[in-house]
Amino acid sequence: MWRCVARGLRLPSSSSSTKILSNDSFRFHSTRFFSADSTGGGSSYTVVDHTYDAVVVGAGGAGLRAAIGLSEHGFNTACITKLFPTRSHTVAAQGGINAALGNMTEDDWRWHMYDTVKGSDWLGDQDAIQYMCREAPKAVIELENYGLPFSRTEDGKIYQRAFGGQSLDFGKGGQAYRCACAADRTGHALLHTLYGQAMRHNTQFFVEYFALDLLMNNDGSCQGVIALNMEDGTLHRFCAASTILATGGYGRAYFSATSAHTCTGDGNAMVARAGVPLEDLEFVQFHPTGIYGAGCLITEGSRGEGGILRNSEGERFMERYAPTAKDLASRDVVSRSMTMEIREGRGVGPLKDHIYLHLNHLPPDVLKERLPGISETAAIFAGVDVTKEPIPVLPTVHYNMGGIPTNYHGEVVTLKGDDPDAVVPGLMAAGEAACASVHGANRLGANSLLDIVVFGRACANRVAKIHRPGEKQKPLEKDAGERTIAWLDKLRNSNGSLSTSHIRLNMQRTMQNNAAVFRTQETLEEGCHLIDKAWESFHDVKVKDRSLIWNSDLIETLELENLLINACVTMHSAEARKESRGAHAREDFTKRDDENWMKHTLGYWENEKVRLDYRPVHMNTLDDEIEPFPPKARVY
Ligand SMILES: Cc1cc2nc3c(=O)[nH]c(=O)nc-3n(C[C@H](O)[C@H](O)[C@H](O)COP(=O)(O)OP(=O)(O)OC[C@H]3O[C@@H](n4cnc5c(N)ncnc54)[C@H](O)[C@@H]3O)c2cc1C
Repeated sequence: MWRCVARGLRLPSSSSSTKILSNDSFRFHSTRFFSADSTGGGSSYTVVDHTYDAVVVGAGGAGLRAAIGLSEHGFNTACITKLFPTRSHTVAAQGGINAALGNMTEDDWRWHMYDTVKGSDWLGDQDAIQYMCREAPKAVIELENYGLPFSRTEDGKIYQRAFGGQSLDFGKGGQAYRCACAADRTGHALLHTLYGQAMRHNTQFFVEYFALDLLMNNDGSCQGVIALNMEDGTLHRFCAASTILATGGYGRAYFSATSAHTCTGDGNAMVARAGVPLEDLEFVQFHPTGIYGAGCLITEGSRGEGGILRNSEGERFMERYAPTAKDLASRDVVSRSMTMEIREGRGVGPLKDHIYLHLNHLPPDVLKERLPGISETAAIFAGVDVTKEPIPVLPTVHYNMGGIPTNYHGEVVTLKGDDPDAVVPGLMAAGEAACASVHGANRLGANSLLDIVVFGRACANRVAKIHRPGEKQKPLEKDAGERTIAWLDKLRNSNGSLSTSHIRLNMQRTMQNNAAVFRTQETLEEGCHLIDKAWESFHDVKVKDRSLIWNSDLIETLELENLLINACVTMHSAEARKESRGAHAREDFTKRDDENWMKHTLGYWENEKVRLDYRPVHMNTLDDEIEPFPPKARVY
C-alpha cells in the first residue's frame, strides 16, 4: 500500500498551517514522505527520524524517575508523552508512599516485605518485592532531598500514617504506620517534584506526542518507538538502544474507574502487538471507596486516619470480616465485604446499593490538616460535608496489578523455549504498565507510588550497567514503522457504522458486569463472548474527523483499540484461572489453589485472538538478608 515517493519535507494535505519541524540538535535526522494508494484518501505523512541513547514513553512518576536517572548517568534521553507531564495520572494519587522509615514506631523493611508478599496472595515475585521494600527508605529520602513537601511530625520527621494491609513484626505486632504522605495530595507533590528535577537535566521532552507502536527487529529485539505529534500530524521514529515503557494502567476499560480518562493501556497494547505477552491481567483492583455515582477516589488514608465503613443498620461490618485489621484490611478483602453487605440487603440509600464511609466522628482539625483534598472532593462530587455526614461509596476499579512482565531490573521478559525469564533486548517497562511482579494478585495501598520511583530508577541503573552513553547504534531498517503508518491511515479513514464512543461503552459495560468483584464461570464465559464481539465490532468503527491536527476523534479511537486488547486479555485470563486469589474472586472456585495456580498468566495477542500460557512465580529472594515467605492462608 505504501510507496516511498520522495524525500524532503512535506506537510499533510489537511494541514492548515506550516510549521518548521524542529529536529533534535543531536544526531541524525531525515524526513520521508509516504503516500497512500488511491483508496487511502491520498494521505501523506511526514516522518522525522531521531536517534537517542534511550527513549522513555510516559512522563508520570515512573517515566520521569527513569528519565532523571538516565540523564544523570549521561545518556542522551528522549521522553515522549501524550500528556503534559504534570497531568499524568500520578498527580491524582492521594494517600501516600510506603517505606519502613520507622518515624512513628520501630519498623523494618522485612516486615514491609512480608506484608507485600501476603498482600499479593503469594503471586508476587519475592526477589522483586525484596528489592522494592529494601530500597523504599532510600527512595523516600531521595524524594525528600529532591524537595517533596512531606507532612511532618511535631519533631520535624516525615509523618507516616496507617494504611491497609500494613503490619509490624511479620503480622504479629499490630498496625504499622508506614505510609509517608503530603496531606492527601501526595501524587501531586511527587509528580511536580520529579518534573522539577527533570528540568535540571538535559532530557528532551516530546510533549503531546502519542506513541503508536514499538519498532521491533526481526530478531525480537526492540529498537525504539514510532509516535504521532498530535499538534501537527507528523510522525516520528525514535531509534534508541533502550526503550522504557512507563505508560500507566488501563482502568478506563471499565465503566466506573478512579483512573483518568487517559489511562488506556497504550504501552501494554504496543507490547502485545509486538508479540510479547501481558502478565496477570485478570487481577484488577477495586478500591473500596470510590464516590457512589461519580467514581472519584476517597483515599484509604481516610480510614488510616480513623474513618469507618457502616451498613444500613449502622453496623461497623468490617469487624465481622477482618477482626484484627477491620477497615484497614487489604483492598480486595474490604471490597468483597462491602459487596456481600449490599447483596445481603444491608446497603444504604434508596436502592440499598452502596455503603457509608464515616469521617464525621474525626476532629475537624485532623480533616483539615490531613484530608483537605478529599473533604473538597466529597463536597463537590457527593454534596457532603464530611464533618457532619457520611460519604456514599462503592468499590470502584482503581489499579491494574498485571501488565508488561519484567524482572526486578525493569527488563521486559518473555517465555523463550525453556526459559521463562528470557529478556527482550532493548525493551524495559516500569510503573503501573509493568508487572515486576511486586503486587501479585492484589496491590497494597501506597505501594504503587513506591513501585514507580523504585523501578523507574532501576531501569536507569540497568541501562547504565549494560550500555555506554553515545554507543553506536545500527540505523533503523528503511521500512521500520511502515505497517503502523498503514494502519494509522486506515483507521483515520475508517468509514464504518459504529462510533468510537458506542464501542467503548459496550466494552466498558461488559468489563464492569462480567469481570467484576465476584466472578463465575458463567459470567466469565459470557464476558469472553461479549468482549470478543466488541473487538470484532471495532472493524466497523467510523472516524469522522479526517484531519491530522489535534484530531481527538482519531486519538480516542487509537486508545479504544488499545483498551480493547487489554480488555480481551483480561477477560480470557480471568476465565481460565479456576481459583480465587487476591482480587480474582470466583464464587465457583472459592479457594486459592497453590498446587495448580501459583503461576503467572501470560496473555498473547495473536491474529486478533488471545492465547494463554504461564510462567512460574519467583519464590526466591535476592540474598540471605531474608528467607522467602512460604505460602499460608491470608487472614486479616
Ligand atoms: C485516584 C488515584 C489515587 C491513587 N493514590 C495512590 C496512592 O496514594 N498511593 C499509591 O501508591 N498509589 C496510588 N495510586 C496508584 C498510582 O498513583 C499509579 O499507579 C501510578 O501513579 C502510576 O504511575 P505511572 O508513572 O506508571 O503512570 P501514569 O502516572 O499514569 O503516567 C502515564 C504516562 O504515560 C504517558 N502515556 C500513556 N500512553 C501514551 C502514549 N500512547 N504515548 C505517549 N505517552 C503516553 C502519559 O502521558 C503519562 O505521562 C492512585 C491511583 C489513582 C487513579
